[in-house]
Amino acid sequence: MVFAAALTDPGRKRALNEDAVSQLVTPYGGIFVVADGMGGHRTGEVASQMAVSQIVEVLKRSEPSPQGLLEAYEAANEAIYLAGQKPESRGMGTTCTALWLDMPYALIAHVGDSRAYLLRDGELMQLTQDHSWVADRVRQGLLTEEEARNHRWRNVITNALGSFPNARVDLVGLKVKPGDVFLLCSDGLSGVLEDKVLSEMILTNPPEPAVAKLIKLANDWGGPDNISAVVVTIGSQVAENPKPYALPLDANDGQPVHLQSGTDPEVLTTQIAEPPKKPGLWQRWGSVILLLLWFGLLGFVLFNQLGSGGAP
Ligand code: CA
Repeated sequence: MVFAAALTDPGRKRALNEDAVSQLVTPYGGIFVVADGMGGHRTGEVASQMAVSQIVEVLKRSEPSPQGLLEAYEAANEAIYLAGQKPESRGMGTTCTALWLDMPYALIAHVGDSRAYLLRDGELMQLTQDHSWVADRVRQGLLTEEEARNHRWRNVITNALGSFPNARVDLVGLKVKPGDVFLLCSDGLSGVLEDKVLSEMILTNPPEPAVAKLIKLANDWGGPDNISAVVVTIGSQVAENPKPYALPLDANDGQPVHLQSGTDPEVLTTQIAEPPKKPGLWQRWGSVILLLLWFGLLGFVLFNQLGSGGAP
């Protein structure tokens, strides 16, 4: 059994809600989507709605498969990209994070900086890697998570549906266990509330009160952006539905596997998701030390030249 709830809210500072959410529970799982649109003149609203409705429509009609999920993303990307060619719609695009449950598997497709989390055995795991300027710096060890959260470029994303002629989609898969809880959200939630608050809310509440409380908390903290949350809880029974496709997920003890990386669509890797590394001291101070050394050397050379110039 699957229990789910989805909610979106404009927040306290924005007149429009450019986020969109959708949920569809099916006998063997369901389709759950969060999108966070961007672009002027209400085009962000259009882009996120297009992404969510197109993906749900395509998945509803197709036989479940990882390829089907990617094709749904490609179709949504093409539609938004074409709509964005009109002069009044320049810059239109959207993040899009989708969870497709086909028991006993969960597949997560992802573009942008909305997120998918998994709460399992009391541990919250971020399943998606943000496609954003600050997340790239965190992965390179140049910023901490905390610095990224408060950085003035925290909203700059490096990948969006509809921004490029071809979609660059990350695909993550895992084998579902009883009691697993998934959270999909926009950065209006994850950028405001800390992971331990997200974790506590979905651990102690069923989906419906969980999404309502999460949105209320983000608003209590100022609601600076549109806020979206989708919570999906797996019941005590996980159906074993026979599959027409093969996934490298059975041999991995339920741990997440990166099936495709959006940065390089040709590569199909099977790396286990690793948490980002904390920045090392050398990486943070290395360039400062190099600069100081360079000035030191320059000073030494100039001093010597002056000294030798004055000597007879
Ligand atoms: Ca946002």
